[in-house]
Amino acid sequence: MSVATAINQLQSKVKACDVATLNADELAAATSAVRGLERSLHGLTLRIGQRADALAASGDGPAAAENFRRGGSVSDKRARSEAKRAKTAARMPGLGDALSNGETSDEHLDAVTAALRGLDESEKEAFAEEEDSLVSSAKRLPPEQFRKKVQRAAQRARKDTGEQNAEAQRRASSFSSWTDRDGMGHFRGTLDPERFAAFVGAIERHTASLANRSGEQVQKNPNLAAAALCDLVAGGNGRQGRTHVSLVVDEHTAAHGQHPGTVRETSNGTPVTHTAAGRLLCDAVLQRVVLDPQGVPLDVGRKHRTATDAQWTALKAIYRTCAMCDLSVDWCQAHHLDPWHPPPTGGWREGRGQRGGLTNLDNLVPVCSLDHHLLHEGGYTAKLRPDRTLEVFQPDGSLWKTLRPDRFGRSEGRV
Ligand SMILES: [Zn+2]
Ligand SMILES: [Zn+2]
Repeated sequence: MSVATAINQLQSKVKACDVATLNADELAAATSAVRGLERSLHGLTLRIGQRADALAASGDGPAAAENFRRGGSVSDKRARSEAKRAKTAARMPGLGDALSNGETSDEHLDAVTAALRGLDESEKEAFAEEEDSLVSSAKRLPPEQFRKKVQRAAQRARKDTGEQNAEAQRRASSFSSWTDRDGMGHFRGTLDPERFAAFVGAIERHTASLANRSGEQVQKNPNLAAAALCDLVAGGNGRQGRTHVSLVVDEHTAAHGQHPGTVRETSNGTPVTHTAAGRLLCDAVLQRVVLDPQGVPLDVGRKHRTATDAQWTALKAIYRTCAMCDLSVDWCQAHHLDPWHPPPTGGWREGRGQRGGLTNLDNLVPVCSLDHHLLHEGGYTAKLRPDRTLEVFQPDGSLWKTLRPDRFGRSEGRV
């Protein structure tokens, strides 16, 4: 009897199976029998792939992947992965046999296939020397644990476990970013293990401190992690912690506020809302550039800060943390309680940021980026009493809480 005939007869028998009247024990027995049959079919598929590759080697037919595709009813991807399993089984026959005998699963074989991918020919040979121990582990361990064992074996087989590999990984690192039609920014990156660990570690630590800022539980919070990433990339620590964004505002908007032709966008052309512009200007380095109608710069003003270094030093003497939460002051931005730059009434003019200096400190509090958002975009407002007690009001105008600078013993009153 041909193999195809045998399988076809088996198929008819399988189709004729009636499970409608089975009890629980019989169902369990049937399931276990089905699993066994599945495994022996997978084993047969392996042997078919190996035979196809052997024929292909002597020019008598297509290789395994093409054979599986011709067999029909499978995706390209599945045909390729079946062919890869056949190759792995050819290299490590003991593993192929274990699968054919129903002692391991496809997933065990796939783990080995994946590990072999990163090795050169002589490393693959070194890896295959561990076959006996791998086969016995495959029979014993679930795929997840087996995968780890396989990865360790691949690591041992690799000739170069040191410098050269690390250097190649550094060179393979990359980062790219782009903006979609909605203006959302996206990025994709690949980092070598060492820098990746540092990168992820920094984000996790800062995410945890953001989560803790109001005594919240640390938990996986992708949105908070994004805030942490932005804090970190913006340069960290206090005075450097401010966002580096070039904001382009036309003169009329700067002087008189919104008008039909308002230009208020980042240097790459992404529009910025009125409130977001207010938050950015709250703690920023400003430089006025005047362009003629053709876009030629006529005048470039000097840079100045909306909160001076002296003011910031003074704030750090008063506050160890954000004025509204427990996050370290090193992660804070200066918030102007009386907006530094209200476009509808005030002009964005050279020198305006110099006004006040230290005498103006009663208008400044350090806030973390999350609380800064609350104050500008979230509709919350804050007022400073002469004794530096901060009153924070909810969007509906009701008093939310009062806070004292932590340096003098944080006392927080909730209303
Ligand atoms: Zn602000
Ligand atoms: Zn805060």
